[in-house]
Amino acid sequence: MSDQYFRENQWWVSPYNFAPEVRGTFQLPERVSIHDATLRDGEQTPGVVMSVADKIAIAEKLDEIGVERIEAGMPAVSEQDFEAIRQISRLGLKARIYTFARAINADIDKAIECGCHGVIIEVPIGYPKLKYQFKWTWEDVLRKSVPVIQHAKSRGLHTVFFPYDTTRAREEDLKNLLTRIVQDARPDAVGVVDTMGCALPETIKHMVRLVKSWTNLSVEVHTHNDFGMAVATELAGVEAGADCVHSCANGLGERTGNAALEELMVALHVLYGYDTQYNLSKLPELGEVVSRISRFPTAANKPILGARNFTRESGIGVDLVVKEPLAMFGTHPALTGRTGEVVLGKKSGKASITYNLERMGITEADDEAVSEMLRRVKDKGIEKRGLLDEEEFREIVEIVMSTSALHRDEVSANS
Ligand SMILES: [Zn+2]
Repeated sequence: MSDQYFRENQWWVSPYNFAPEVRGTFQLPERVSIHDATLRDGEQTPGVVMSVADKIAIAEKLDEIGVERIEAGMPAVSEQDFEAIRQISRLGLKARIYTFARAINADIDKAIECGCHGVIIEVPIGYPKLKYQFKWTWEDVLRKSVPVIQHAKSRGLHTVFFPYDTTRAREEDLKNLLTRIVQDARPDAVGVVDTMGCALPETIKHMVRLVKSWTNLSVEVHTHNDFGMAVATELAGVEAGADCVHSCANGLGERTGNAALEELMVALHVLYGYDTQYNLSKLPELGEVVSRISRFPTAANKPILGARNFTRESGIGVDLVVKEPLAMFGTHPALTGRTGEVVLGKKSGKASITYNLERMGITEADDEAVSEMLRRVKDKGIEKRGLLDEEEFREIVEIVMSTSALHRDEVSANS
């Protein structure tokens, strides 16, 4: 078995991830790139509005972290969106800049005007969309798509054909459409899009293989989180050979959101062993910027970014949280710019008290005092139904220390 499951002071994950029985079933591509759509699909979250300056701030952070592609918006939406994309394209970022376009030539012209490198051309193919919303057949979709793909390609744009709601398409529609698309227009890549977040990981694998077999093109996966599986389904796509996954920072996006950028990055690097150059320790900074701009607070238990991801409350092994974090967590907190923390509450033990006293530089507390502090900490935790803050613990320490000092004085006076 490979030793990729362990990197000193970085991670210690399941070695079985690298067992031949597991890895042998994968058709991993040489490289996987991330196409981040926070500025388009993320802004599509109802109620979220990003100004030009907001979008530039997020794009710069995404680039700092090393995202390969940034979908900067849909120029047709508003003058502001157009302006944001134009300015982001001129920042000289390492990331390639993409725009989102409908299957109309005017959208491609706008993408070119913005100065971007690539374009995502969206058309519906999900049967419920065709049947109820558009009243189109797959031939209609083909007719609308071909000239637009040709136009984008002729202008040198990297062209991704994005037949959305792919996972609810009738297989014959999808097969007919994609077979004809590669004959008539040949985009650079095709998306498998789980718009409603309703496909299983194994399903996405199957669909990536199907689309590859029909088109022989690079396949990208874009999923949503309605069943809590957006990241899992995209990674399953990678296992079947998809070489680009779409994301939103903080899992932003309509309804339950898109696949979370930070989760994909860490999973590709740690669980799959890709030698990515992502600056993972900067992820919390990006998370904060996106959370502030979108006004979507990050849940305390959100993977990678949650405030409580590296905290321990119960007593056993608390000192290891800081001294030997890989005994307590699969990844070292520092890998993602975090620190381990021992918090105090109902489930604390003596070791938690001693640990926090040491942190405060208090060494003179005897065993009796520590037990008394623990009793008071537990009572306080139960009373407030939560964790104690530093101020509350300090108060307990002061009371206990002064009474035990008083007690000591009495004992010495009596003797
Ligand atoms: Zn989407």
